[in-house]
Amino acid sequence: MRLQSLLVWLNAATIAWSYPYEPLRVLQVGENEVIKVPESEKLNLLRRGVKFFDVTRHTSSLPFFNKEEEPVVPVYNYPAEISNKEIVDGLIENIDEESMHKNLAKFTSFYTRYYKSDHGFESAEWLAATIANITKDIPQDTLTIEHFDHKEWKQYSIIVRIAGSTTPEDIIVIGSHQDSINLLLPSIMAAPGADDNGSGTVTNIEALRLYTEYFLKREFRPNNTVEFHFYSAEEGGLLGSLDVFTEYAKQEKQVRAMLQQDMTGYVPEPEDEHVGIVTDYTTPALTDFIKLIVDSYLSIPYRDTKCGYACSDHGSATRNGFPGSFVIESEFKKTNKYIHSTMDTLDRLSLVHMAEHTKIVLGVIVELGSWSAW
Ligand SMILES: [Zn+2]
Repeated sequence: MRLQSLLVWLNAATIAWSYPYEPLRVLQVGENEVIKVPESEKLNLLRRGVKFFDVTRHTSSLPFFNKEEEPVVPVYNYPAEISNKEIVDGLIENIDEESMHKNLAKFTSFYTRYYKSDHGFESAEWLAATIANITKDIPQDTLTIEHFDHKEWKQYSIIVRIAGSTTPEDIIVIGSHQDSINLLLPSIMAAPGADDNGSGTVTNIEALRLYTEYFLKREFRPNNTVEFHFYSAEEGGLLGSLDVFTEYAKQEKQVRAMLQQDMTGYVPEPEDEHVGIVTDYTTPALTDFIKLIVDSYLSIPYRDTKCGYACSDHGSATRNGFPGSFVIESEFKKTNKYIHSTMDTLDRLSLVHMAEHTKIVLGVIVELGSWSAW
């Protein structure tokens, strides 16, 4: 045991001593920093802006203790130029902001989508029903909708899988988290979570709707498997996506790319509208490819930005050895300050901006859906 690890464990032991009656959670708060705290202390950390992986259920995967076993993200070849411009432009034309608005209005009407609450279970039920309705005409041998049960809490994650025709083992994942949180009193106060992350959820629902239409009209099926993930419990320390990607790693699944959409609707300065491409704790080759997609299909530019350790669900992909990327509504310092409160509401968001994010998703799934030169 290195000195640093010893110090962390001494610190953890002290905290454990001071809170004898609460079960402890194991949190990874940095690449080389693990702490053990009572459940209630998690909330204090979040209020102070400290983000973490809650790895209580996955301590065997702690890179901190098993440096030599830490999964390495493979370097894949992504397309250096786009080859489906006509198809993607055709899909983009049909993005329906009214439908996105309707879905977001409904999704934010749940009192909260806190993952431990009954409301959070009800919002998951609505989301699952909406997705099932959108995809209902896709043949059953191609489509699966999995309700991923996390056991410890009620809100399940949802995995929509469109199986690839020739190389179904190659998987492209589009992710977003469905839960919301009010950091003041999560179990009591309302959390509309319009931007965080109703916006990313609705961005991905719209992309799934258009991709399904394309699939049905053209009798098209991608060579690779395309999955849409709607994670539970991101706000509790990336709990949902950690469960999902830990399971994927255990099953030796081959995720070739994962793109996260978390906060896609807030535009602080309309005259300077752009998207933020996250460059820290993401996979560089994949991030370069995402930049190509933005340059090719969006009507606004991107800016590089950083959002820190354990910032969103793409982190659960990369820590399990899968390439991860993240596009957020703007440079990180300009993102929505009303999140995690009753003030994260739909009236503060731009549907036009969310539609730009939908374009990214459509570009990624069409361009990578049949890519084979990995
Ligand atoms: Zn979020």
